[in-house]
Amino acid sequence: MSELDTLRSTVRDFCDREIRPTAQQRDRDESYPADIIPGLAELGVLGAAIPEEYGGAGLDDHGYRIVMEELGGADSSFRSMVSVNVGLFGKSLLRWGTEEQKQQWLPGACRGELGAFGLTEPGAGSNPSEMRTRAVRDGDDWVLDGSKIFITNGSKGAVTMVFARAVVDGDDQGITCFLVPQDADGYTGHQIHGKLGLRAGDTAEIVLEGVRIPGDSVLGEVGGGMKVALSALDNGRFSLAAGAVGLAREALEVSVRYASEREQFGGPIANKQLVQELLAAMHVDVEAASALVDRLVEARANNPRPTLETSTAKLFCTEASVRCCDRAVQVHGGYGYIDEYPVQRMLRDARVTTLYEGTSQVQHLIIGRILTGKNAF
Ligand SMILES: Cc1cc2nc3c(=O)[nH]c(=O)nc-3n(C[C@H](O)[C@H](O)[C@H](O)COP(=O)(O)OP(=O)(O)OC[C@H]3O[C@@H](n4cnc5c(N)ncnc54)[C@H](O)[C@@H]3O)c2cc1C
Repeated sequence: MSELDTLRSTVRDFCDREIRPTAQQRDRDESYPADIIPGLAELGVLGAAIPEEYGGAGLDDHGYRIVMEELGGADSSFRSMVSVNVGLFGKSLLRWGTEEQKQQWLPGACRGELGAFGLTEPGAGSNPSEMRTRAVRDGDDWVLDGSKIFITNGSKGAVTMVFARAVVDGDDQGITCFLVPQDADGYTGHQIHGKLGLRAGDTAEIVLEGVRIPGDSVLGEVGGGMKVALSALDNGRFSLAAGAVGLAREALEVSVRYASEREQFGGPIANKQLVQELLAAMHVDVEAASALVDRLVEARANNPRPTLETSTAKLFCTEASVRCCDRAVQVHGGYGYIDEYPVQRMLRDARVTTLYEGTSQVQHLIIGRILTGKNAF
């Protein structure tokens, strides 16, 4: 067995034992899995791609991709939590942080004191440059006011990367990234309830009212926030594409199983050509999505910003996961529509993947811009 196979079976065993059996209940109750986080930390999943010197497991892209696939298959609420903690937060800190900032936040993130990525605002989603949150320089400190919406790990984590317009002596210095402790005075994270999917995840609205943080809380440079955000999204979209492959593959596996067991017209529905067509279409999507993640892993090894490969994989894998989960519901018939079976949860969980970290339309526009040289945003 290769090291990667061992990693896959270790993470899968954990998911089979600790995550899958309770996924439906968490989805029904919208209950946050605080009890499972220490186990994930102990397994090394929360710091999967963070170097060992900061408390992580030090996995490369091949290993990290496997962790994302396995979590994506077991329960996307966990995949989302880890994608943000490692892909968006941890990797950005590694790329842009000072040694003090890394020492301050990375070991905690690997232990379960999670990091969040606060870019989106009520009036600034696909176009973050329209953000209104401000950070005003006051002596040696920064004082933040504004709000963020839909922030994963934003209310039950330890620290949020908050993107805000930096204002110094009345001058707008541009979008800047700040490391803001979630227990800072004036920081409030409100859990958003009633989501279609990811119902066990912490998705928060954040209100910042006069949040005072020290001058050395800037991640990267003042005015350099969009560079930080775009590099974070490269890593986040890779995590998400891999997680979507895991979700699509799980949808296929449970559907093959169900089709072999469910009998109609005197035999298993797996004997029916049109059911096989559904399964075959899912298989093709899973294989194609997986191959695009392979290509992305290769591209990331040779190019620090493989934007074309990243957006291509993000777009295809997430759309494929929605198609596969939808077909899985079809294979399950009426039983696919009730929560005795996992496929309806999987379809609802899949649905967000084409929305966040840049919608599918945004990915089309990024790809189109690279192909034509014309900006159609
Ligand atoms: C569960 C969940 C978790 C999330 N986690 C995070 C997080 O951790 N951190 C974070 O910062 N954000 C997070 N988000 C926010 C997410 O990234 C945004 O919702 C997403 O970027 C889209 O922004 P919006 O919702 O404002 O939609 P809008 O930007 O208003 O888009 C609405 C529609 O218009 C389309 N559209 C917009 N502009 C164009 C254009 N130029 N051309 C064509 N079509 C266009 C979009 O594709 C979409 O279909 C999360 C969202 C959800 C639902």
